[in-house]
Amino acid sequence: MNCIFCGIADGSVKSQLIYEDEDVVAFKDLNPQAPTHLLIIPRKHIARLSEADEKDVLLLGKILLVAQKLARKFDLKDFRLITNNGKGAGQSVDHLHFHLMAGRRFLWPAG
Ligand code: 5GP
Ligand code: ZN
Repeated sequence: MNCIFCGIADGSVKSQLIYEDEDVVAFKDLNPQAPTHLLIIPRKHIARLSEADEKDVLLLGKILLVAQKLARKFDLKDFRLITNNGKGAGQSVDHLHFHLMAGRRFLWPAG
């Protein structure tokens, strides 16, 4: 399997790492859409949220807490946390990731 985000997680693909632990990695988006735009991923390859299962419950919870930790660290009061599930929803990389975005106003409903 040739997965760019698995490569970032194992260090074989360069990125601007912001956070890592044994299960979760966060790095700057290559093409930021907001002043702060980070991607938070599990090290484990899960293609998208719809492919996670009960075994991943702790991992999924941990990702949310990493998002909270990073929001605190960067003093983000208002932020958006998004996962695009499937091509039609805008997913372009098939490794589960959450966009943590802040620093501008966001539209609602999301475009
Ligand atoms: P998606 O469209 O799948 O929700 O989001 C994928 C995101 O990954 C995009 O915002 C894109 O800019 C980012 N991205 C794609 N390839 C790379 C890469 O090699 N490095 C980094 N840091 N971000 C990437
Ligand atoms: Zn992967």
